[in-house]
Amino acid sequence: MSSIRVLSVASELYPIVKTGGLADVVGALPIALKAQEIETRTLIPGYPAVTSALETAEEVLDLSNFHGGPARVLSGSCAGIELFVLDAAHLFARPGNPYSSPDGADWPDNAIRFAALGRIAADIGQGSIPAFAPDIVHAHDWQAGLTHAYLHYSDRPRPGTVMTVHNLAYQGQFPRELLNEIGLPPDSFTVDGVEYYGSIGFLKAGLRFADRITTVSPTYALEIQRPQHGMGLDGLLRGRADILSGILNGIDTSVWNPATDPHIASSFDADRLENRAINKVALQERLGLRADPEAFLLGVISRMSWQKGLDLLLESLPAVLSEHIQIAVLGSGDPELQNRYRAAAEADPAQIGVWIGYDESLAHLIQAGADALVVPSRFEPCGLTQLCALRYGAVPIVSRVGGLADTVVDADEPNIFGNTATGIEFEPVTTQTLTDALRRAHALFRNRAVWHQIQQNGMAVDVSWHHRASQYASLYRQLAKARQAV
Ligand code: ADP
Repeated sequence: MSSIRVLSVASELYPIVKTGGLADVVGALPIALKAQEIETRTLIPGYPAVTSALETAEEVLDLSNFHGGPARVLSGSCAGIELFVLDAAHLFARPGNPYSSPDGADWPDNAIRFAALGRIAADIGQGSIPAFAPDIVHAHDWQAGLTHAYLHYSDRPRPGTVMTVHNLAYQGQFPRELLNEIGLPPDSFTVDGVEYYGSIGFLKAGLRFADRITTVSPTYALEIQRPQHGMGLDGLLRGRADILSGILNGIDTSVWNPATDPHIASSFDADRLENRAINKVALQERLGLRADPEAFLLGVISRMSWQKGLDLLLESLPAVLSEHIQIAVLGSGDPELQNRYRAAAEADPAQIGVWIGYDESLAHLIQAGADALVVPSRFEPCGLTQLCALRYGAVPIVSRVGGLADTVVDADEPNIFGNTATGIEFEPVTTQTLTDALRRAHALFRNRAVWHQIQQNGMAVDVSWHHRASQYASLYRQLAKARQAV
């Protein structure tokens, strides 16, 4: 097996900078790919968190005047991941998250910032750093999407290109007037180029020009070809169906390991499930819930956005909480939803515990102490929290969409009798179907033998990157071979 070189391009990378599942994937995949003889370098912007996390750093490219300031590319590593860092202080040395200022407003120059990322990715793809000439350039989400447009509009030889959609809802659209400033030719502004309904579409460009498109679950790969979930790009995706596939995400099973997890009150595994009770008590205490070992404790770990369906969960709580159910919610996002959850907790603190914010440690404790994890998403490209839940014996209660449908096996009668059930699924995504699912879960929970079996089945599922990484490896190999023939 010959070694393949991949330049991965993204705006987030766990454990350095993360706003969602994208970072988890971009951080974990290169490590899992090493075992497949895929050598990955990841190009990310030099946010302050990134430049200060670099364990080693060597300048490999000097760009004296780059979009109005000096810039360079550093080569270095962090947490076992080999990085190229686009160190351009005027673009990236800012407080806040990768996309917005601390007050939550998107940076007004995001088009320039992420066009710069794509420009450098394309240059590295075409050999500007001779020590690492990639066979494949793999762009993640809209922030990296222009990479493939720059490669397409260049007349120099280029490597193979892969575009991965982690969430089609975020597309990166910017005014057409920026075309010249971001260095794209006037004739690129057509429906067959980078134009998306009168704007420049970064994700659209990546999808239009990539040799292969992937998304993060087989079901989402089908859903995004239909108008309901296609977000205006379903036509393009239907037209490229032959190069579009879904590869499920995995999770880092060394970080998410209940047997060694430093964040939880008591470690456990499938043979010591009784230790979960200690975590349940710790979680109840942490969120001020009534200490009640018999309560059916639901957990939620989520961005608070329309996508995640947490408004539906709020609406169903009055109906289910009468059945002695508790809920532990960790999340942040939409201010109105945050306030509604806070108000619900204030009104019923013994049963509703809410922590608004981002807290890795509490996320682990919820997975370890909650009896079930609720993920009522309206759409879900893959979803990671239900994978962690499976590994921690927190039975996932999920809507049957996208990656949730692909990773959870519903506890209907045949699956219970066949010992294959791993969770509870519901559809369509409404308050009523969610309420029914929560009630069904509660009834199953009261049947200890069945519940225990569902937990055991879930904990036996392989949610690691190992198998999933091999699917990326074969995609890269096929593409590299096809490019050699060009
Ligand atoms: P998305 O990327 O759409 O937000 P995913 O389920 O794919 O959703 O990934 C979310 C990741 O972020 C998971 O690793 C989850 O544990 C984590 N996460 C989400 N919200 C929080 C939070 N408030 N605190 C800690 N971790 C969180």
